[in-house]
Amino acid sequence: MDRLLAQQTAQDPASRRHHYVPQAYLREWSVEGKRVWALDTVTGAVKLLGLKSVCVEENFYRVVGRDGEPHNRVELLFGVVDDELRRVQGLFNQLEDPDELEFDDLIALGVTVAVQRMRTLQQRRLRQQHHAWLNAQNPRDFKPMHDPKNPHLAAGIHTELLFSAMWEAADVMTTRQIELWLDPQGRFMTCDAPVLVPFRRNVRPSLIAAPYIVWPVSPHRAVALANDLLGEKAVIRQATGKLVGIVRDGVEQGRERIIFASEGQRDRLPRTKKFRRRTQVRLRCTQHTPQGQYIEPPGCCVEASDTFAAAPDVALCKQGLHSPAPEMWAHT
Ligand SMILES: [Zn+2]
Repeated sequence: MDRLLAQQTAQDPASRRHHYVPQAYLREWSVEGKRVWALDTVTGAVKLLGLKSVCVEENFYRVVGRDGEPHNRVELLFGVVDDELRRVQGLFNQLEDPDELEFDDLIALGVTVAVQRMRTLQQRRLRQQHHAWLNAQNPRDFKPMHDPKNPHLAAGIHTELLFSAMWEAADVMTTRQIELWLDPQGRFMTCDAPVLVPFRRNVRPSLIAAPYIVWPVSPHRAVALANDLLGEKAVIRQATGKLVGIVRDGVEQGRERIIFASEGQRDRLPRTKKFRRRTQVRLRCTQHTPQGQYIEPPGCCVEASDTFAAAPDVALCKQGLHSPAPEMWAHT
């Protein structure tokens, strides 16, 4: 937190190429620390790509400051988060004895997983779908995320949301049981949205309900945050076929576009598979709020979640309460 605050007064960095998955994270899967085998699920191509050129977008976190001037200082904040991510990833890749873990390490893991989940291109796209719906319902309070006069608007909305949700999301992560899955055969892959919340019957459970939130930390190890508390700092498991399958399905369904594999696993990249579906916003009407409060008809509560589908999945009541939001499909 101190290191984050110290960046407030720092100089604007020159770099405009912003990585939403740190290069240091992907290095664990790399060939000689420089390049990594990648399957592009849109083109079906498998290529060895430079770490510098994957999971990167121009000005992805360029935002407009209070003085009205755009700047890149958010990248400095992510620099602090990246240092911590590298430390936590290294820690769990080396860990032999869970009793060596300290309280700060558990908090650092929670923050790292929470931020990595939220900072991706996939989350930006889902935010755009969601925002398009909000804008159609209430154009006074929710302006479009696209404004030709302010090209940094989407980055600003996404960044603000991320940093305001970060501590609460980290809290949810730290209430879970840490498991460390070991695969001597090194079969774990990862992707451009590397914190996996596996779908159940094509719907993504909430962070509280999900049986596992999985973060592969190398081809041989994956950190899984489980919702069965066993009262230990961390539970180390040899990865069975089932656990390897959870990671594999999680990567294939959870990726935005690119799947990464180690040199030893490159031939197992699913290059012939058809990837027509990916994560989309799902909206449904219910008679209960998330806190369980009943809502009298004709009122309703719109439940937002994620689904594994070819397009946003919106099925709302026909009581005249909701306006169509065709702009959602522009971000499919
Ligand atoms: Zn409704």
